[in-house]
Amino acid sequence: MRVARAALHMWEEPCISGEEGSGAVFFTGCSLRCVYCQNYALSRGETGKEISVKRLAEIFLELSDQGANNINLVTPTHFVPQIIEALEMAKEEGLKLPIVYNTSGYERVEVLKRLKGLVDIYLPDFKYWEKESAKRYSMAGDYPEAAKAALREMVDQAPAPVFDERGIMRRGVIVRHLLLPGHVTEAKKIVEYLYKTYGDQIYVSLMNQYTPLDTLDADAFPELNRKVTKREYDRLVDYAIDLGVECGYIQEGETAMKSFIPPFTLNGV
Ligand code: SF4
Repeated sequence: MRVARAALHMWEEPCISGEEGSGAVFFTGCSLRCVYCQNYALSRGETGKEISVKRLAEIFLELSDQGANNINLVTPTHFVPQIIEALEMAKEEGLKLPIVYNTSGYERVEVLKRLKGLVDIYLPDFKYWEKESAKRYSMAGDYPEAAKAALREMVDQAPAPVFDERGIMRRGVIVRHLLLPGHVTEAKKIVEYLYKTYGDQIYVSLMNQYTPLDTLDADAFPELNRKVTKREYDRLVDYAIDLGVECGYIQEGETAMKSFIPPFTLNGV
């Protein structure tokens, strides 16, 4: 496995980060190759240190000692067999924190089934409704179908949200959608699907923080070479409210900043 950062992370949803922070472990690589990736150095494997299963188990326990509210596995999919071993090892050593599986949503159901009983909180993206968008931006035309099947399995494993007395999530599913510029209609279809299929069984997190980075090929994808406007984001949020979504998170203020991307300098690895 390669890991680029293991540290307390304050920028997840409030019920995940809380005041103490989420114990985020950023794995190098990703099962998607989004052209606009906001964590490019990480997803394309340009950063990260090779570690053993035993070291990963130690990292989990170190984050617990630092006061993390949970262990947050970020882009973990391609290392699932080793992560399972490390989780089992750390739990035997006394790890009690909820385990968060933080993923692009491009998952295979049989892989998720292997995580049953080990993962408490699923934090998947639901990126695209249209195959064309999935193919154009992530080279994965089957993303919408894969994400729907994966989400069904996640909700089956964590069918109702559970919070502790501080409002920190102990169990549940939070689905994120990062609004892309010019894609409000597609985003609305996703929100409608999520709400009509799962209602208050899941939380929906609508994100406006999309930032075009230097790594984006602006000639090939000119439509993505700008931030999301306030009007676009408001249209999506209003739509969700009109639908009746109450279990959800929105972002306020100026979030589209590069500073939201943590430094991948091998902290805690
Ligand atoms: S799923 Fe996320 S981390 Fe992976 S390539 Fe896409 S934007 Fe980057």
